[in-house]
Amino acid sequence: MWKEFKQMIFRGNILDMAVGVMIGAAFGNIVSSLVNDIFMPIINSITGKVNVSAMSVTIGEATLTYGAFIQAIIDFLLMAICVFIFVKIANTVRKNLEKPAKVEEEKPKRVCPYCKSEIADDATRCPHCTSQLSN
Ligand SMILES: [Zn+2]
Repeated sequence: MWKEFKQMIFRGNILDMAVGVMIGAAFGNIVSSLVNDIFMPIINSITGKVNVSAMSVTIGEATLTYGAFIQAIIDFLLMAICVFIFVKIANTVRKNLEKPAKVEEEKPKRVCPYCKSEIADDATRCPHCTSQLSN
C-alpha cells in the first residue's frame, strides 16, 4: 500500500500538477494585486470613488445588497481584462523570443551571363571567364 502511495505521489504528472497549482496561486496573487493596487485606484479616481457594494434595496424584510453583486461582476470583468492583457503581453514576448534573429535576406547573387558563375554585384568584368559585363 505504501509503495502504491509513493508511486502515485511521485508520478510525474502529479508533481507537474502541484507545480501548476502553486504557480497558478502565485500568478493569482499578481493579478489580484494588479487589480487592487493598480487598476482600482485608477478607476476610483476616474469615477470618484463610487462604492457600488454598499448599494442595497430593502423589500419588506429582505435586504438585497445588489451592490455587492455588481461589485463582484465588475471585479470579475477587471480580472478578465487583466488576464487577457497579461496573456497578450506574454504571447508577444514569447513570440519575439522564439523568433530567430532576423536572417538578413540575401538577394539572389548576380550571375555572369556567359559562364553562369557567381560574380560581384558591381563587377564590370567576369573574374571567371573575363567577359566584359554591361551594368
Ligand atoms: Zn563569366
